[in-house]
Amino acid sequence: MPDVATSLYADNSTGISRLYVPLQLRRRVFDELHGLSHPGIRCTKQLVGSKYIWPDMNKDIAIWFRACINCQRSKVHLHTKTLLVQFLIPDERFTHVHLDIIKLHFVRRYKYCLTMIDRFTRWPEAAPMSDMEAETVARTFVNTWVSRFGTPQRLTCDREGNLNRGFFKLCLNSLVHI
Ligand SMILES: [Zn+2]
Repeated sequence: MPDVATSLYADNSTGISRLYVPLQLRRRVFDELHGLSHPGIRCTKQLVGSKYIWPDMNKDIAIWFRACINCQRSKVHLHTKTLLVQFLIPDERFTHVHLDIIKLHFVRRYKYCLTMIDRFTRWPEAAPMSDMEAETVARTFVNTWVSRFGTPQRLTCDREGNLNRGFFKLCLNSLVHI
């Protein structure tokens, strides 16, 4: 193959034009796309693979994905059924939800707001809460999100200090009983 660094190549075998990425730019492509919202491994592979191509692309992505410090720090994996992962689901909506709690300073009763964002579609939901106890958060999440969009395979939460202890256990219990 000629010098790919100075030429542009595209793969059209799938009917969609995908750019061939030279070795020195592959990591940057991954960083740019994965860094947008730090989606899960399958999402990241789909995202990169929808526009770009290079040999052993999925292998590279898997290695970089596992090494992503941002993901390692913030992700708490709640696999309700690991078998589901083996099925190829073309649409990954609502499989990975990001939770956060916002304090509303000028409100009397519902002083807190639980924000829930689907990492794949960025679909946002918000629900008021009177406190940020683990049980309240779990119930709010189940009532607002799970009852309409189903159980996500993965939950990520920024508020580790507040939510880590009882929350995920409670939440998992609530989810399992639905
Ligand atoms: Zn990441």
